[in-house]
Amino acid sequence: LSFDQFIRHWAAQRPDNTALEQEGEALTFSELETRSRKIVSMLRARGVRKGDRIAWLGKNSRHYFELFYSAARMGAVMVPIGWRLAAPEIGFILGDTGAKLIFVGRGFEDMAATACSQMDTPPAVATTPDAAAAIDAARADDFVPAGPDDAVLQLYTSGTTGNPKGAVLTNRNLFSLRLPSQDAEQPWSHFDEDEAILVCMPCAHIGGTGLGIMAMGSGIRAIVQEEFTPDGVLDAFEQGITRLFIVPAALQMVVQHPRAKTTNMTGVKYVLYGAAPIPLDLLREAVRTIPDAGFLQCYGMTETTGTIAVLPPEDHDLAGNQRMKSAGKAVPGVELQVVGENGEELLRGEVGELVCRSPSNMACYWNLPEATQSSLRDGWMHTGDAAYMDEDGYVYIQDRMKDMIISGGENVYPAQVESAIYGHPAVGEVAVIGVPDDTWGEAVKACIVAKPGQQIDPDSLIEWTKERVAGFKVPKSIDVIEVMPRNASGKILRKDLRAPYWAGRERQVN
Ligand code: ATP
Ligand code: MG
Repeated sequence: LSFDQFIRHWAAQRPDNTALEQEGEALTFSELETRSRKIVSMLRARGVRKGDRIAWLGKNSRHYFELFYSAARMGAVMVPIGWRLAAPEIGFILGDTGAKLIFVGRGFEDMAATACSQMDTPPAVATTPDAAAAIDAARADDFVPAGPDDAVLQLYTSGTTGNPKGAVLTNRNLFSLRLPSQDAEQPWSHFDEDEAILVCMPCAHIGGTGLGIMAMGSGIRAIVQEEFTPDGVLDAFEQGITRLFIVPAALQMVVQHPRAKTTNMTGVKYVLYGAAPIPLDLLREAVRTIPDAGFLQCYGMTETTGTIAVLPPEDHDLAGNQRMKSAGKAVPGVELQVVGENGEELLRGEVGELVCRSPSNMACYWNLPEATQSSLRDGWMHTGDAAYMDEDGYVYIQDRMKDMIISGGENVYPAQVESAIYGHPAVGEVAVIGVPDDTWGEAVKACIVAKPGQQIDPDSLIEWTKERVAGFKVPKSIDVIEVMPRNASGKILRKDLRAPYWAGRERQVN
């Protein structure tokens, strides 16, 4: 279970198959093995040792994957930094990790220079072509490969509920749940040799980098796109990709794109989606638009190296199946429980905090011993997500515990209200938040972006919602906004929407 093993294994078994591809440029597994040895030499020549952090700032690139896999072979820890971040945020991550070296992708030279100029001890900067030149010059000497429990990747959480935290992930974390299998109950964990996985989500998140790891573990081709665009995904469908991972906001753009109706999507075997709640109407529309694909909802978090629960294709039938509201059940090797305030396991159907014991649970948060202690207790990762489990072990994520609204003593989970309001024909995007209220403690508010060319009438939308959710969940007020604040993972930043209403007040969270 290590990059070193997988790279050598596939270079021997499938030397001439493509490992990485971008804009028509391809690298085979045997080329990857040779190049990665040279990259290791280059890193060592630059003073990088096992346990050192090296950073990447740039859009998705096959150079990033090459560097990551190579660094991982020798046990250096890759820290991909989100390219949408501002210079001080980049500086924070570089400082937090103590990275020795930062590799900069095309177009990010100025940003890297600005971020480094604000630091006391900035890392050395290498551009990717510089790395390539060094590779040719370097000696492909031997190195001690990193083992299963060595850290190889440090990913920052999306920063949806607070500051991003660095999750330290080992080889074992990355591969334990990602290996191909012949499990008849999980046909999607079998990979045909000629499959191709699309990497279109940002590599600073597990939904991007994790797909590369999946391809590496399975010995199949990863097609890397610089960044997500709906056109890019539709092009990739036509070029024959067989799997992809995509967040709900991006899936919406793909299926509602005018080209979606005419694009040949018959080659797509599996559409993996997740990372945020998905409105049921959007999911139905997606299933209708890509009818030949198996849909797999993935639930997980950075701290669990991504997916720990999966909703399988057969639970995506359009005939009003309640299961379609579930985020799925534990994947083999993972234990899930729903626990109460004192850590006691709750009965099926009762809502509590979802906790997870998995070989993919991170080693720790980097430099945050207290946060590690409160999140990882006796091997159980506390997700911060409110959920219940049904008799068959299917998990229903209600929402983030921090975003739950307590209004007049009743618990309101924003995602449920959002999913209902999303069904209104004039609504493009919606976020539900709790705002201070003298009578109810908190009142439910919906923030709405209209569909292009549509008008939102708050009073009639409130009336419309009353017919669809319980009275205490119906928004008391509606803000019509121009742009939905989202982070780079496409997640709605409810904390930003809430901030002006809570200025100067303390919001109680559970
Ligand atoms: P931060 O921890 O910094 O606030 P974040 O939690 O958004 O950010 P990630 O690790 O990218 O960072 O996301 C994990 C979270 O995403 C989960 O805890 C859960 O709230 C949400 N999530 C993931 N998959 C799903 C899903 N299938 N359905 C609903 N929510 C999901
Ligand atoms: Mg989180």
